Amino acid sequence: MKLGLISPYPDFRTYGIRSLSTYLRKRGHQASTFYLMRPYSVPYPDSVLERLTELIKDCDLVGISVMSNYYMNAAQITKKIKSKLNVPVVWGGVHSTVMPRESLEHADIAVIGEGEETTLEILEKIRRGEPPVDVAGTFVRRGGRVIENPPRPLIPPGDLPVIDNDYSSDYVIWKGRDILPIDGNILRKCLTRDYMTLTSFGCPFSCAYCINNRLNRMHPGPVRFRKIEDVLEELVRAKSRMPFIKQITFDDDAFISRDGAELKIFAREYRRRVNLPFFVSGVNPVYVSEEKIRILLDAGMNRIKMGIQSGSNKSKLLYNRHISNEKIISSARAINKYRRRMTLVAYDLILDNPFESKKDILETIDLLSRLPSPYTLNLSSLTFFPGTRMYELARAAGYVKDNVRDVYLKLYHGVDNNYLNLIIVLFSIGKVPPRLLKLLTAEKMVKRLNRVPSRIFGFFLLMGFARRGIDFIIKGDPHTLWRLIRYNPLKP
Ligand code: SF4
Repeated sequence: MKLGLISPYPDFRTYGIRSLSTYLRKRGHQASTFYLMRPYSVPYPDSVLERLTELIKDCDLVGISVMSNYYMNAAQITKKIKSKLNVPVVWGGVHSTVMPRESLEHADIAVIGEGEETTLEILEKIRRGEPPVDVAGTFVRRGGRVIENPPRPLIPPGDLPVIDNDYSSDYVIWKGRDILPIDGNILRKCLTRDYMTLTSFGCPFSCAYCINNRLNRMHPGPVRFRKIEDVLEELVRAKSRMPFIKQITFDDDAFISRDGAELKIFAREYRRRVNLPFFVSGVNPVYVSEEKIRILLDAGMNRIKMGIQSGSNKSKLLYNRHISNEKIISSARAINKYRRRMTLVAYDLILDNPFESKKDILETIDLLSRLPSPYTLNLSSLTFFPGTRMYELARAAGYVKDNVRDVYLKLYHGVDNNYLNLIIVLFSIGKVPPRLLKLLTAEKMVKRLNRVPSRIFGFFLLMGFARRGIDFIIKGDPHTLWRLIRYNPLKP
């Protein structure tokens, strides 16, 4: 059977859709992926969607991967397909998992949870000429009603084939105007020398703003680790197939939660068989130790990002994130000890929490002042994603009235230009001298000052970014800088 898979995300390296297409190809189906990279909230030109419908006109099924921010993009694509073709459209991914009924306002089928076995069963039903209405792990729109099928258990990672990275029947949006088949040259440009993978699925935490908050309620249980051998096999194959890859990103939420002994085995084999610098993007302070950092650096780690989110005990309670500031500081010290062996460590922070008082934000500022320098910050504006506990609280408090306006189209990388946020931004530029900090956080100043002109705020944000850029260049990694600029979600 012929299947068209659509990824609307700006990042070409998206893991889920590559896993799905590999799985279906291994089972004899023809799966072509269309990487329609686009920042969310920016509609596609009609010419692109015309071309898409031309390319998928022979498909027996079309699947679209949807995260909540890409809801509008997925809706636009689906509307166009439905206006031109008579093909069932399936939505999968996080959004259809948590909002299946809303997804069915556009799609015919919403997949809940992992899509590999579910999509396979849908395709088999279509092959047999049966309506795919009773497939486990789906909600299906049938006439005017919605059929709710039972959930499907998670797939053991060892049952999933190693990603094949076969792009020979895939396409990519090109310069925002056209869709081209992927050849070696295009692939090199899309990957910008970086290959991304996951070594585990899930997270042992359930932070109240994070999708794992919902997924862990749906499927309680431990993190599912891939076998080290499978991860290495994927990377060795990717490296030989795409020799232009110069860097690996481990993008899972639990990479560093493996114990030290296992990390040692991974590090030794990675060094021997892959031997490329790598970035660990999702580090929880709880799992950081000096020994783990040293093991990973010896294996080739050159960059790390750790989640802090807040220094306020009240906010951490609200976020269901019980990590003391002392632990955050000791983990930051363990990383800082090896600062010369990697680019600037980045700490994730969540700002713009309407449940926070100025006092809570000052506690975060105090934590930042106690972290060892140098470091940089990744700032996000708190977004209440459906399915999470924070979404329910925000709904009840009236912060979310309209999902599309207040959640899906919210620019979560753009933080509010208020005075306390500006102080936080200063830490992304460099160490703030204690005397200056005392002055800036004096009660009078905090009470009086609120809005900051957006140009001034933007200037300091830019300074933080420039400092980071300079560090990438000094440490010999200009390609990461280029990718960060290219994938800037605020860029139209
Ligand atoms: S630790 Fe990170 S990935 Fe895990 S639930 Fe919290 S925010 Fe999500």
